[in-house]
Amino acid sequence: MNDAACAKPAQGWLHGILHGDGATQRRAVAKAITLLESTRPDHRREADALLNALLPHAGRAFRLGISGVPGVGKSTFIEALGLHLIGLGHRVAVLAVDPSSSVSGGSILGDKTRMERLSTHERAYIRPSPSGGNLGGVAAKTREAMLVCEAAGYDVVIVETVGVGQSETAVAGMTDMFCVLQLPNAGDDLQAIKKGIMELADLVVINKADLDADAATRAQAQITSALRLLGLHGRPDTAHHDEALWHPRVIQLSALSGQGVAEFWRLVSEFRHLQQANGRWQVRRQQQAKAWMWERIDSGLREAFAQHPAVQDRLPALTAEVLAERVVASVAARELLEMFACTRPGSACRPSPSVFS
Ligand code: GDP
Repeated sequence: MNDAACAKPAQGWLHGILHGDGATQRRAVAKAITLLESTRPDHRREADALLNALLPHAGRAFRLGISGVPGVGKSTFIEALGLHLIGLGHRVAVLAVDPSSSVSGGSILGDKTRMERLSTHERAYIRPSPSGGNLGGVAAKTREAMLVCEAAGYDVVIVETVGVGQSETAVAGMTDMFCVLQLPNAGDDLQAIKKGIMELADLVVINKADLDADAATRAQAQITSALRLLGLHGRPDTAHHDEALWHPRVIQLSALSGQGVAEFWRLVSEFRHLQQANGRWQVRRQQQAKAWMWERIDSGLREAFAQHPAVQDRLPALTAEVLAERVVASVAARELLEMFACTRPGSACRPSPSVFS
């Protein structure tokens, strides 16, 4: 049995997450997420046991990814959407992936106190981005936090990120539907749009349509035709010629006035039913779970490699040899990997002699 299976889950929180109500449950959710964000090995074991215990109760929520550049209106939109959903009887959790918080110490997404009405609502839970670590680490913590929220009965989990860098790919890779917010003048810069969203977006929202209706309509037309072109080349899970598959859409909205929010959710529901009917829903989740596992394996191996005493011993000298062009980079890598694999406890192999001595 592995450590996670042996360790006793944080029983109090487990009960609070599954059966607590109101403030008690929100406190248990917050404590559990803090535990899984900890880097202490004993906390990690406890967190793993807790996650395993929560798993059977998770997975039933709708996972919605929202991205867009700073200032496009993400918090305003998420607050409007969240309150709309609560009005429909849902419970809403909002999580964030913001790798900038670990690089600069400050967060692009801010501390979420901006969503004042939503954050104080008893049917909502808002958690800022975990800080510290690289994007992979931040994303992994958010994925785990998502399971905690789902087990607590939040049936819509919104994961917010900034429209810069790889964080969009990470969020698209952990959600059922990925939406990108754009400004009405977005159509003026199609190149940027192509790069950022074409591959990922299931739905593009032109926000702040109230500011310039003409520009919003222009942007909607331009992005729609760009998405249609892409559809001809065929994304694996979308196609414009097949009615059984989802066609990425573009809509206009004003998060500030709330105009278009109901229509947004109607499209999300349409997407959800279609994906469930054509089987893409389950395939996407399975692919995501597998990719998540491998991403964590890669990252764990890299960490173990960097901490391996024999590797640490040899790495500086071998790096110098590679830089001086006396050893080929791939040969040095092989030697280090062999050293890593062969000197682990229980290993039967012996490293080959060094390429330089
Ligand atoms: P974020 O950085 O993407 O989270 O953007 P915010 O939600 O903080 O919004 C940035 C600014 O845009 C704020 O001053 C909002 O009031 C404003 N804003 C957001 N949505 C709209 C909208 O639909 N119309 C207008 N006119 N302003 C908006």
